[in-house]
Amino acid sequence: MTGVAGSSTLAELLMSRSLSDPELQRATEAVEDHAILPDVSVLKIGGQSLIDRGRAAVFPVVDQLVEAKRTHKLLIGTGGGTRARHVYALAAELGMPTGVLSEVGAAVAGQNAQMLGYLMAKHGVPTVGPSAFGVLPLQVAESGAAIFSGMPPYDLWQRVPGEGVIPPYRTDAGCYLVAETYGCKQMIFVKDEDGLFSANPKNDASATFIPRATVDELIAMDLPDLVIERPVLELMRHARHVREVQIVNGLRPGLVRRALDGEHVGSIITAA
Ligand code: ADP
Ligand code: MG
Repeated sequence: MTGVAGSSTLAELLMSRSLSDPELQRATEAVEDHAILPDVSVLKIGGQSLIDRGRAAVFPVVDQLVEAKRTHKLLIGTGGGTRARHVYALAAELGMPTGVLSEVGAAVAGQNAQMLGYLMAKHGVPTVGPSAFGVLPLQVAESGAAIFSGMPPYDLWQRVPGEGVIPPYRTDAGCYLVAETYGCKQMIFVKDEDGLFSANPKNDASATFIPRATVDELIAMDLPDLVIERPVLELMRHARHVREVQIVNGLRPGLVRRALDGEHVGSIITAA
């Protein structure tokens, strides 16, 4: 389908059909995707895994980010962690719905973004709130990096999970969605383990390292626990831009930079 003919067909379909019409959907699918920030890399800095460890972990991670920023354009998202879990526990016990948990939990990832922003302020790296996302390209162009809260701002409108009330789309999903929506170069999850294992290595000493897996393989493995939020796998399946993510250990100096350079230094999960 050529651009001009394609768009006129698309316009006709959009004016005349239901928005769930399969032919209409195929016509939108056929249009070439526009990558908004194709040379920007998204990093997620773990909440519980890194920021909650305090200065012993955070200062070296900041050093890695400052170093990486010299050669890479960065969007840095933050996790929530233990304080978010605390407020989920409290709100769940009070009988609050998922949307309320999402709203109150979001504050914690925002606090982590603020603190990381103050640590990186002298390097010219700003923290942008959800309402300021429009200026994010300018911030990255000016300073080479910007920090955002990883929690997607679904708040009361958070998708309800199949069971229970914990918001399914949290900061891993939020950071991934930023990378995919902006058509970014890559998505790297920076946590406190060497990557993905067959089980949580913190409570299973026999867990084995999985250097690479596809989304389908991972779903088939049906692991008891993952190093990233499960909904990210589903999001990756339909990805147009970010069809691969890497999970790296932020406690090991230098890995962030090497992952940004395209090296395989953790676990890589691919869409197919
Ligand atoms: P974040 O700090 O980004 O929120 P989490 O603490 O939610 O990260 O997730 C990272 C943690 O996931 C790791 O510290 C690890 O203990 C745990 N984990 C659970 N299952 C796995 C697994 N299969 N492989 C590796 N780590 C796992
Ligand atoms: Mg988490």
